Amino acid sequence: HWSRICSRLQAEVGEVEYRTWLKQISIGPVDGDEITLNLPTRFLRDWVRTQYGDRLSALWNAELPSIRRVELQVGRPDPVVEPEGASGDEAGSADVAPVAGTVDERVAEARSELSRHDLAAPLDPRFTFDTFVVGKPNEFAYACARRVAERPSSPGFNPLFLYGGVGLGKTHLMHAIGSELTRGGKVSVAYMSAEKFMYRFIAAIRSQSTMEFKEQLRSVDVLMIDDLQFLIGKDNTQEEFFHTFNALVDAGRQIVVSADKSPSDLSGLEDRLRTRLGCGMVADIHATTFELRISILESKAAASGVPVPAKVLEFLAHKITSNVRELEGALNRLIAHANLFGRPVTLEATQDVLHDILKAHDRRVTIEEIQRKVAEHWNIRLTDMSSARRARAVARPRQVAMYLAKQLTSRSLPEIGRKFGNRDHTTVMHAVARVTELMERDSAFAEDVELLRRMLES
Ligand code: ADP
Ligand code: MG
Repeated sequence: HWSRICSRLQAEVGEVEYRTWLKQISIGPVDGDEITLNLPTRFLRDWVRTQYGDRLSALWNAELPSIRRVELQVGRPDPVVEPEGASGDEAGSADVAPVAGTVDERVAEARSELSRHDLAAPLDPRFTFDTFVVGKPNEFAYACARRVAERPSSPGFNPLFLYGGVGLGKTHLMHAIGSELTRGGKVSVAYMSAEKFMYRFIAAIRSQSTMEFKEQLRSVDVLMIDDLQFLIGKDNTQEEFFHTFNALVDAGRQIVVSADKSPSDLSGLEDRLRTRLGCGMVADIHATTFELRISILESKAAASGVPVPAKVLEFLAHKITSNVRELEGALNRLIAHANLFGRPVTLEATQDVLHDILKAHDRRVTIEEIQRKVAEHWNIRLTDMSSARRARAVARPRQVAMYLAKQLTSRSLPEIGRKFGNRDHTTVMHAVARVTELMERDSAFAEDVELLRRMLES
C-alpha cells in the first residue's frame, strides 16, 4: 500500500519535492482507523503535516478504507507493521522504489471507490484562483476558467478545453474551478483524471454495474476530466466518454477537459470526439515567460515567510524554465534548508543546495545551434550543413558539426544524420572518428573544436 501511495505522491508532486520531503517518511503502526507515519525531525513533521497532511489521509483512505486518520510523529522508523489485509511482500519503507500499481490493482481500487459512491477525486485545497499567478502566458486560460466558475454552462464556454505542456497549471485551474463551484454547496462537481475514468469504467464493466456508473456520471452538474490524452488508443473508454459527454452537454451541464495538446492535434482521439471537444472554448496555456516565473516565485516565497533575495529568484527563473512544478520544488527545497539549518537563503547556498537539479537543467544545445555556430566559425553557408557538396572547405566543418552533435546532444547517429541532409548513420560515425583522429594530430584544429564546444555549452 505504502509503495503505491509513494508512487502516487511522487507523480503528483514531482521528483524533487518528493525526495526533499516525502521520502523521509517511514510508516509506523496501525491502531484501529489510524496509521502513524514517522518523520526524523519536528520541522519535517510540521512541514509534511501542513503541506501534505490532507493528501496523505486521502490517499491512505483510498488505499485502505478502514484508515481514516493519519498521525504524523517525530521518531525512528518502527518495525514495519502492515495494516490488516496488506500483502506481506510489500515493504513499508519509502526507500523501496515505488512500483506503479498493475491494471488489476487499479481496477480493484476503482471498484471499491465505486461501491463507496464517491465519484469525484478530492480537490486539492491549495489549488485555488487566489494562489494562481496570472501572466501573459496563462491569462486567457485563467479568464476562461474564472468565467466557467462564475457561470457554468454558458454558451460558448461549454466544453472548456484547457491545454498546455506539463506543469503549467492545467490541473491547478481545474481544481480552482471545482473549489469555487462547490463552495456554495449547490453544484455537484466531479473531477477525475482520464486514467481514473478508464479504470472506473473497466471496474464497472467487470462488476456489471455500467448502468450505475453512467447514471452517477450523468448526474453531476460539472464533469472535469484531466489529461485526456491518456485516452488515446483506448477506444472503448473513448466511446464511453463520448456518450457521457454528449449526454451531459445536451442536459445543459458543464464539461471541462484538459490535455497536453489542442483538440486538433490530439491525433489518435476519435474524430467525432475531437470535433465536439473543440466546439466550446479552447484555451491554451503557453510556456512561462521569465516575468511569470519571477511572479510565481515571489508569490510562493512570500507565502512561505522565508526571505528569499531577488537575486536568487532571478537565478532560479533563469535556470528552471520548463515547468512550474519543478520551479516550485526547487524553491521549496531552498526554503526547507533555510529552515532546517537556520541560515538565510543566499545565491551561494542556492547553487549548493540545488546542485543536482541545476545540473539537470543545464541548457541543452540543439543540433541547429551547433550547425549555425560551426558554419559561422568557418564562414560557410548554413545550407551547406545539409548540402551534398563534398569540397573539403565545406565537408570538414560539416564533420565537426556532426561530431559536436554527437558529443553535446543525446541524439542517436541516425537522428543526427537526418539533420544533416538525410545522411546515413555510418556517415556520422565516420565523421566522429575522423574528427577525433584529426584532433589528436592537429592541435590548432583541436583548439578550434574545443573553443566551439565551450561556446556551445555556455
Ligand atoms: P499541469 O496540470 O498543467 O501539469 P499543475 O496544475 O499540476 O500542472 O501545476 C504544477 C504545479 O505548479 C502546481 O503545484 C501548481 O500549483 C503550480 N502552478 C502552475 N502554474 C501556476 C501559476 N500560474 N501560479 C501558481 N502556481 C502555479
Ligand atoms: Mg495536471
